[in-house]
Amino acid sequence: MSNGPQPVVLVVEDEAAQREVLAYNLAAQGYEVLTADEGERALEIIAETSPDLVLLDWMLPNVSGIEICRRLKSRAETRETPVIMLSARGEEADRVRGLDIGADDYVTKPYSLAELMARVKTQLRRVRPAAVGRHLTFEDIVLDPETHRVTRGGQEIKLGPTEFRLLATFLERPGRVFTRELLLDRVWGRDVYVDTRTVDVHVGRLRKALTTQGGTDPLRTVRGAGYALG
Ligand code: CA
Repeated sequence: MSNGPQPVVLVVEDEAAQREVLAYNLAAQGYEVLTADEGERALEIIAETSPDLVLLDWMLPNVSGIEICRRLKSRAETRETPVIMLSARGEEADRVRGLDIGADDYVTKPYSLAELMARVKTQLRRVRPAAVGRHLTFEDIVLDPETHRVTRGGQEIKLGPTEFRLLATFLERPGRVFTRELLLDRVWGRDVYVDTRTVDVHVGRLRKALTTQGGTDPLRTVRGAGYALG
């Protein structure tokens, strides 16, 4: 069962055959896959769509993988996006350099696809836990992405599908302020046109459902910014 739009993985690889194999295998894992064959295009895609994870080849035309990684990790909006560097260079110095500039993981070619997929999942579990099947909790609220059950203080809470995805999104990052635009992307999907006021309506329903059996409202309205859990 889907927990809202699936994680988006960007593959940046100039060798067509490798790019296609990666895209195919990532799609088979249930991820939405975007691809770029050179550095400039990768930076455009990152700016336009904020992927959940970037698989980044080291040697690329135009802008190198190292430079892309450096830029991602130096900007607040993309700093937390996991980057897995792919490299034909296996030397320890390269590995250290890759991790030094902030890459979250480093894989040497030729790699095992199964191992690479496992590493992708490990990184996504950190940034998109609900999307990879882990229980999410905040205070007395528990959400199970697999059974789609939500409880508060042990009592079952009935939520519509949109409210469920909203809650999962908030639970992935307690304390983070989500703008209405970001919630639209995460909950409704990037290709759907929905007015931002729709977000307010569904947040209102979620609040009502979470407090119907008592308990304080865990959601915070941040004026001029959006919403946060806790
Ligand atoms: Ca290359």
